[in-house]
Amino acid sequence: MGRPPLSSRLTPFVTTIFAEMSALAVRTGSINLGQGFPDTDGPAEVAEAAVRAIREGRGNQYPPGPGIPELRRAVAEHQRRWYGLEWDPDTEVLVTAGATEAVAAALLALLEPGDEVIALEPYYDSYAAGIAMAGARRVPVTLRPDTGGEAPAYRLDLDELRAAVTPATRLILLNSPHNPTGTVLDRTELEAVAALARERDLLVVTDEVYEHLVFDGAHIPLATLPGMRERTVSISSAGKSYSFTGWKVGWVTAPAPLVAAVRTAKQYLTYVSAGPFQYAVAEALALPDAYLTGLRADLLRKRDLLAAGLTEAGLRVFRPSGTYFITADITPLGEKDGVAYCMSLPERCGVVAVPTQVFYDDPDAGRSIVRFAFCKKDEVLAEAVRRLKEGRSA
Ligand code: PMP
Ligand code: GLN
Repeated sequence: MGRPPLSSRLTPFVTTIFAEMSALAVRTGSINLGQGFPDTDGPAEVAEAAVRAIREGRGNQYPPGPGIPELRRAVAEHQRRWYGLEWDPDTEVLVTAGATEAVAAALLALLEPGDEVIALEPYYDSYAAGIAMAGARRVPVTLRPDTGGEAPAYRLDLDELRAAVTPATRLILLNSPHNPTGTVLDRTELEAVAALARERDLLVVTDEVYEHLVFDGAHIPLATLPGMRERTVSISSAGKSYSFTGWKVGWVTAPAPLVAAVRTAKQYLTYVSAGPFQYAVAEALALPDAYLTGLRADLLRKRDLLAAGLTEAGLRVFRPSGTYFITADITPLGEKDGVAYCMSLPERCGVVAVPTQVFYDDPDAGRSIVRFAFCKKDEVLAEAVRRLKEGRSA
């Protein structure tokens, strides 16, 4: 066999760091603060709704391609209630197999080979793979740590963003709240993105899966900015907001022509997404706001617990304004390389973290930075911190 089986488009993406680090956690029996999934399931009544749907034969056979009407209506109602955005559930909402499929389908649908896509770096790993599968080219714009303030954070350099646009740019792939940095883009940053998109006639695909996990400031959906509704594809998922990451129910909201384009790609990727979970997620979206505000309060406490613990363990913490991830610099520990640190950490301390350099085209920009997930029980976080502190003095 002369030619290798895997297409050259995909050779850079053979393993995802999340699967690799979760396997390492299982192999070493470590506390897994690597892959972002909660160790407590979402609301019991939502789980019951899925069981009920299966028992009652709702969604056990192919549901409609765009998603069941109940869920499309619930998504539209959520967007109206939280953000004042009006979407027609029949033509402007599409249910997907998680946000991952939504991103992939949007990229496959909207890009021609050779188009350039601007993506914030460090980027969520499926973005690079999705852009490559579409035959397009990614152009990273780096979020750089601003270490000046009392609570160092990463910000978007607006000049760098403007300079990244060329005549080949077709779309900006945005993510706010941002994984892995925890940055929540503020109104000034979003207005700059919007102005650029309008001026240069670009589309924006915005991944807002952490929309309800914001601790400082507020989540502003890009589609709410003037002139943006018509050129924005917004993506979210039940995985993060309702703590059912295994269900893989996501959705897209956008004007009808954009939804029709994304649906065209989606129907040949999965055709439809799991039926009974769609009924359950429709019920989740109708829960009183207290559920989401409670989740946020809970995660805020966990953020502060882990941030304090990592600081005590000697790392330099970048305080996240959103998501359930904290990034931290390991330089103060005398460490230089996040990959080497994360590969040896399970053996040394029984804790798994993720090196963020793998999310950069320029790994030097994140060489010494690692990411910890804090969507875990308080006692699990406390034990991880204890081990990291002990490992430090060992
Ligand atoms: N986007 C971002 C930024 C994420 O962190 C994740 C991880 N869960 C996803 C998309 C994927 O979401 P889903 O599990 O719904 O496919
Ligand atoms: N989004 C999760 C994270 O960033 C993981 C999802 C995945 O494993 N693909 O950790």
